[in-house]
Amino acid sequence: MLAKAALRATQNTSQTPATGPASTPEAGRRRTSRADVGLGILLVVAVAWAARTYFADRDRPQSVEAGRQGPTTANVKRETAENRGPGATAPDESPETDVSSPVDETEGPPTSTGAGAVGPLSEKDRKTLAALEHAVEGRGTIGSAEILLAEELNARHHGLPEVDQLVWAVFQQAAASERQQGRTDEALRYIERLTEIWPESLATWRELYDARASQGRWREAEQVARKALAAHPTEAEFYRRLARALVRQDRSEEAADILRQALARGEDLGLRGMLTEIETGLSHERDMGRAQSSHFTLHVEAGASAREGRQVLDFLERQYTDLGRTLDYEPPGEIPVILYPTAAGVEASGGPRWAVATYSHADGRIRVSTADLSRGLTADLEETLVHELAHAFIAGRTRMTAPRDVNEGLAQYVSGRRPRPVVIDTRALDPGSISRVSDFYEAALSFVAFLMKKQGQAGMNDLLKALGEEDVDQAFRRAYGLDYDEAHKAWVKQLR
Ligand SMILES: [Zn+2]
Repeated sequence: MLAKAALRATQNTSQTPATGPASTPEAGRRRTSRADVGLGILLVVAVAWAARTYFADRDRPQSVEAGRQGPTTANVKRETAENRGPGATAPDESPETDVSSPVDETEGPPTSTGAGAVGPLSEKDRKTLAALEHAVEGRGTIGSAEILLAEELNARHHGLPEVDQLVWAVFQQAAASERQQGRTDEALRYIERLTEIWPESLATWRELYDARASQGRWREAEQVARKALAAHPTEAEFYRRLARALVRQDRSEEAADILRQALARGEDLGLRGMLTEIETGLSHERDMGRAQSSHFTLHVEAGASAREGRQVLDFLERQYTDLGRTLDYEPPGEIPVILYPTAAGVEASGGPRWAVATYSHADGRIRVSTADLSRGLTADLEETLVHELAHAFIAGRTRMTAPRDVNEGLAQYVSGRRPRPVVIDTRALDPGSISRVSDFYEAALSFVAFLMKKQGQAGMNDLLKALGEEDVDQAFRRAYGLDYDEAHKAWVKQLR
């Protein structure tokens, strides 16, 4: 979840006279005082705790989310790798960033029983086998000709271990070379074929689901999970994946039903936890009105008139179009937006205490607290909505791999904020630094404004696109000719 840089604590004190260099009349609700230093440290601890609690049983790589919570994350990819301990991610929750990782060569087809094997190989088939082996070992490009031969061999000799292993390798290698050329969909078609040939392989189903999930294509992810369950009706992990795909499509009731069905088969702590979480969310949204537009489902407080809901949706749709144009990208699927009448709303749904709004990477929802619609769309609410919507776009575009400073800096930038003439605490972006949340946001905005000055929106869009395909340093180099640390250094240098 990515929270908007409005501290409730500082909001409460925003009426008091400003003190310190960071406070200018425009400072608005992020006005801070020296007393906030201590508060900031408390917040960091609270946020880390909240993040851990919130993501305790989520499908998303918690490490990414938890890492982004504190202002300590600079390189998300690095964090992900380091945090992938047994407590952080269950083995079946392979992070969705793994889509472009190379094929695990040690993995083979499921051990065959030989049941389907039909007779010995003919002379012609032996030759085909040898030719394909040669192609696979040479690590050359596997094209449609090789795929066709592999299909023929499979049709005649499925179950024969040497044929199975080769057919498996041919498809995996074909997928790998498509991936290398950035053709994810083509690569996934080969993986999908593997699930058809060997529906018993759990790993292939996981790979296919996770790839669809990381693309944000939840309807397709749902289909994968359903097929996987047809082949493996007792595997809890696919119930969880199916439920998650449904939640991401704002079909939480269906998700809860699926989990109840699974639990009727047998108790499972993970599924039970997920069900409780979904039911809690549903109970908070139950009394809310619901309205729909082409890209959003809006849940609004009870009592708000249809006209007010429509007004918010119209605003969101306009912003969606604008952001799509600005960022040269539109996220797939619809985005649920929940407007809570009170400050407790976001917190009750697992958001950090200090946040007035969040975008959750776990369920893809935008949540806004104290969204009192009786006053209509205030400038504050508008900015908050654009900020969180930007996170949804960035998450989709980068497959949730944007470094936290780019993510928060850009969300502020596209919602109209510009760096203020204040002293920027550049260390607020250092990995491992403990700093005030407001300093982090200020520094992040300054960093993004610097990148914007360097290469404009086009450069930023190149960066976001590259982040979805490569690691952070490679992506920065592609867009700016500098790796991430070098870009930071250049930013610090021009501040002086
Ligand atoms: Zn944010």
